[in-house]
Amino acid sequence: MTDTTWDAIVIGGGAAGLSAAQALGRSLRRTLVLDGGAPRNRFAAHMHNVLGLDGTPPLELLTRGRAEAEAYGVEFRAATVRAVRDAGSDGDDDGGSPGVGAPLAPGGSVSIELDSGPVLRTRALIVATGVTDALPEIPGLAERWGQSVLHCPYCHGWEVRGQRIAVVTTAPIGLHQAKLLRQWSDDVTVFTAGLVGPDGASALDAGTERAMLARGMRLVPMPVAEVLGSGAQVTGVRTADGREYGVDAIFTGFTMVPQDAFLSGIPLQRTETPMGVCIAVDPMQRTSHPRIWAAGNVVSPAASVPLAMGAGNMAGAAANAALVDEDYALAAGSVA
Ligand SMILES: Cc1cc2nc3c(=O)[nH]c(=O)nc-3n(C[C@H](O)[C@H](O)[C@H](O)COP(=O)(O)OP(=O)(O)OC[C@H]3O[C@@H](n4cnc5c(N)ncnc54)[C@H](O)[C@@H]3O)c2cc1C
Repeated sequence: MTDTTWDAIVIGGGAAGLSAAQALGRSLRRTLVLDGGAPRNRFAAHMHNVLGLDGTPPLELLTRGRAEAEAYGVEFRAATVRAVRDAGSDGDDDGGSPGVGAPLAPGGSVSIELDSGPVLRTRALIVATGVTDALPEIPGLAERWGQSVLHCPYCHGWEVRGQRIAVVTTAPIGLHQAKLLRQWSDDVTVFTAGLVGPDGASALDAGTERAMLARGMRLVPMPVAEVLGSGAQVTGVRTADGREYGVDAIFTGFTMVPQDAFLSGIPLQRTETPMGVCIAVDPMQRTSHPRIWAAGNVVSPAASVPLAMGAGNMAGAAANAALVDEDYALAAGSVA
């Protein structure tokens, strides 16, 4: 291990990554955060359901979090990670995954290749790179994302309570979102074309349809062709048959893609979640590679800011604990 090997590198400077970095900095670990600077909620003006910070602009939280981590010696670099490789002695002989939560073999490291600059080495890696929201390709929709086109009733349901809400489904799991929204408004129109899965079956069974209609919801099977609006504000939805529906807010989304392609060189175990396949982690946020932890949306796409912060905090503490054990093992080895 050389002087240029970091104790910990955190990839991603959002809520999860900053929380991990703060825990590591406060543990006196030499820590570097590499961040592409595009947190998922950057489109929203305010965060909600974040205790003590309700209504705070998302970027303000990150600025404050970075300053707090820097005060504990954490360093930051604006960079995009291209690849991560196993550079040490961990894992199976063939470099495969030893299993989620497997112990760390002393003396190993992980190498990190950036879009430019030298390769970095670290004893512990925290992956906190979030997801990309794959929005439906409907004219007028993407440019209003995070403003009047929303995805999370807990984040923004209160702000549009009692208003005319449209749910533009894009996947069978959108039924969950549609059913939830009736809690915030008695004027909900669900565009159901997206509820049809790849097998051609709709998630909307006859019993659920009856119950939703009984709750006063409108169900429209015609695909949405265009979102109408003025500036950031949605004013309506036009369906493929030319009909227009006046609405004040649209909920959609639910197709989230983990930003973890740079890990393809390491055969990490994956797991099925309601939002798709993600890297598997144990309750301490450790992956099947003993030097790699992962937290936040990249492993839990439905996690809100407080959940991402909690998971990041756990990942930082767990990585430090593994390094503490390694420090003892290395010391014992040097006197044996
Ligand atoms: C429009 C919108 C509004 C939301 N509003 C709320 C709300 O009000 N309340 C709430 O609790 N939650 C809200 N959320 C959810 C919230 O955005 C997530 O919970 C949170 O961002 C997850 O944090 P994270 O750290 O896992 O990921 P992110 O915040 O997305 O951070 C990931 C970071 O990793 C970086 N990165 C990615 N790949 C690489 C790479 N290869 N190399 C280097 N860096 C990389 C990115 O640039 C980014 O900075 C909202 C989401 C959206 C889309």
